[in-house]
Amino acid sequence: MPFIDTHCHYNLDPLYENWPTHWQKAQAEGINQSLVVGADQLSCQRALEITQTEPHLWISLGFHPEVYDIRVTQKTSASELAEQLNQDLTWLKATAFQAGKKLVAIGETGLDYYYFNPAETDLNQLKIQAQTAAFIAQIHLANELQLPLIVHSRDRDEQAYRDILKLLKTHYKFNRPFVLHCASGPLDYISEAIELGAYIGFDGNLTYKKNQNLVEIFQATPPNRRLLETDAPFLPPQSFRGQTCEPWMVRLTAEFIQQQLQIDPEQLTQNALDCFNQ
Ligand SMILES: [Zn+2]
Repeated sequence: MPFIDTHCHYNLDPLYENWPTHWQKAQAEGINQSLVVGADQLSCQRALEITQTEPHLWISLGFHPEVYDIRVTQKTSASELAEQLNQDLTWLKATAFQAGKKLVAIGETGLDYYYFNPAETDLNQLKIQAQTAAFIAQIHLANELQLPLIVHSRDRDEQAYRDILKLLKTHYKFNRPFVLHCASGPLDYISEAIELGAYIGFDGNLTYKKNQNLVEIFQATPPNRRLLETDAPFLPPQSFRGQTCEPWMVRLTAEFIQQQLQIDPEQLTQNALDCFNQ
């Protein structure tokens, strides 16, 4: 049965140096289409290089919230941050133009407060401001290019999830879907996002021993809104924990969905085609 890996990073180390081997291995395991997701300038450039020659690799272009945390930590001034974000957008637009029809989404972008130190309230506020400005700018880019948005969201409590919904409702024009990549967060946030048109991405962590929250999210997601992802090189399935996640391992998550959750993973393949308008 063919699978689509809707979120993987052949463009990141350690996969990048052997990406053709990893892609061949994935195809041998039944993965017939994958979306290579950019997260900063270098990984977007590599994604472009990888996907241009391979008909079954799509590309998504975006800047991960972590990029903006790093700039804030380097004590970049507010005006410099704004100028750099402007440059990011100009660069993303030019690269989107180069990617042409292979470009199926914008992202990953979003909000990530997971690693914030609660004692650093001022620094955290600056990071939130920088992440928010970048997220809004990329939402507008998705609107302009009429492409789905791939959203990365992570937090130890609920604030990032609440902020994401608020920003999407204010800025995103809902005439096409968006993806909550790597499902996490409270169930009512997931349900509200689904009402707005979200697809929810499920990764190798669905197979972990402590997976109750993710299984609940999976079951609360309508069958036509579930997507299969690896997020390789991150989040290897249970039997490979502690190792690099390789893209072929998406098959293990698909098997888990079939055997433990009694859902035919082929449905998720169709969802990927619908979501990315293919
Ligand atoms: Zn990712």
